[in-house]
Amino acid sequence: MTSWEGIKAIKLEMDAGGNPFVVHAAVLWDESEAILVDTGIPGQLELIQKVLAEEGIPFEKLNKIIITHQDRDHIGSLPELVAASDGNIEVLAHEAAIPYLAGQTPLIKSGTLAPPVKVDRALQDGDILPYCGGIQVIFTPGHSPDHISLYHIPSKTLIAGDALTAQDGVVMPFNPEFTPEKKAALQSVAKLLDVDIEIVIAYHGGVCTGGIKERLQEIVEHTSV
Ligand SMILES: [Zn+2]
Repeated sequence: MTSWEGIKAIKLEMDAGGNPFVVHAAVLWDESEAILVDTGIPGQLELIQKVLAEEGIPFEKLNKIIITHQDRDHIGSLPELVAASDGNIEVLAHEAAIPYLAGQTPLIKSGTLAPPVKVDRALQDGDILPYCGGIQVIFTPGHSPDHISLYHIPSKTLIAGDALTAQDGVVMPFNPEFTPEKKAALQSVAKLLDVDIEIVIAYHGGVCTGGIKERLQEIVEHTSV
C-alpha cells in the first residue's frame, strides 16, 4: 500500500438553470494517484479543472474518478471529464451502477438514459482500494440501489455521498425526499457505526468532525422510516 498524501473536500459552486447549487466532492491524492469522487451536474468540466488546479492537482494528473451513485448531480460531468482526459481517467463505481452509467438502464430518479460511460473497475462492498493509503468501499444502498460510501483508512474520513447529509458541520440523515428506500438507507447508516469515523464529507452539506459515532447513533435511533 502506498503512503498517503492527501484528502480534501472540494466545494463546487455551480449554476443549475439560474439557481446556485453547491456540492462537496472529494479529492484524494498520493505520489501516483489523483482521484475525484463524484462530478457535479453536467457542464462542470472547466469548474472542476479550475478547483483541482487550486488544490495543486493539474487535470492531467487526475487518473481516477469514483462515482458514489447514479444520481445526475453526481455523474453529470463524468462524460465530459472522461472525454477531456484522453483515456487517462479510469472510472470506478459499484457493480450495480454499471448498467445505469452505461446508458442501458434508465436512471431511477429521472427515468432517462445517462450518456454512456464505461466503468473500468466494478466495486463491491468491502473492497480496499490500494490508493492514498487505502480506501475501503462500503455499500450503503437506500438513497439508490448502487450507492457506496468510501472510507479513507489513514485519515478515518468517510466520503458519504448521499448516504448522509450535513448542516453547519453536523451530520444529518439522508434526505428523505430523494431517498426512495428509506429503511435500507437507515440500515446503511447503522452499518457505518462499525467504522471508526472521525471526519465525514457529505456531498450535500460538507465536512463534519467530532462526535461522529454518537451522532450516527442518534440518527439510527431517532430517524423514522
Ligand atoms: Zn446528490
